[in-house]
Amino acid sequence: MTLFQTVKEAVSTRQAAGRYGVQVGKGGMACCPFHPDKTPSMKVDSRFHCFGCGADGDVIAFTAKLFGLRPVEAARKLAADFAVPFSEKERGQPRRFSTKKRETPRVSPEERYRLAEARCFRTLCRYFHLLEDWEREFAPKNPDEPLHPRFLEAVQKKDAVSHQLEVLQCGSVAEKAPLVADCVKEVVHLERKFPELAGGDPAMDWGSH
Ligand SMILES: [Zn+2]
Repeated sequence: MTLFQTVKEAVSTRQAAGRYGVQVGKGGMACCPFHPDKTPSMKVDSRFHCFGCGADGDVIAFTAKLFGLRPVEAARKLAADFAVPFSEKERGQPRRFSTKKRETPRVSPEERYRLAEARCFRTLCRYFHLLEDWEREFAPKNPDEPLHPRFLEAVQKKDAVSHQLEVLQCGSVAEKAPLVADCVKEVVHLERKFPELAGGDPAMDWGSH
């Protein structure tokens, strides 16, 4: 069995969610960590599916998305955190994990890109929901009322943000890479302006470009 199969058989998304701080309630429903979710709209069992933002996948995808990891890194993390025995023969050398102390990996440009992509997706997703709220909350009540700046921002930005999210979710690497490069500045600006969009994520080094 491959590492992926071994991990998927040993650990359910529900177990991983619990371990990684996502509270799972009755019937396996949880507040989705991938969009601003006030009522639990994510179903978590062996896999996960969010009825709010459409996030969907297996335990490895869940962990990868949650921590901004590549699938293989997420699988290794799960194996380590749940003490799942496995061997990676193709690597030629056994890997050992200790839950107490892990080496801090060097951040390669590739890795930096992946983290940036995950961060752009999360923040833009939250921003999109904020715009939706504003469009409702600050809509003019009568034709004479001057337009609220937040209502204007919602109307002006919603389509663009929705398009960015679509590319990030479904686009090819060739489509996503230039978008992420463009988005990074915007996302940093958004997180400064609206700290709730960063959602208490640890501070992140975006690099100098
Ligand atoms: Zn969601």
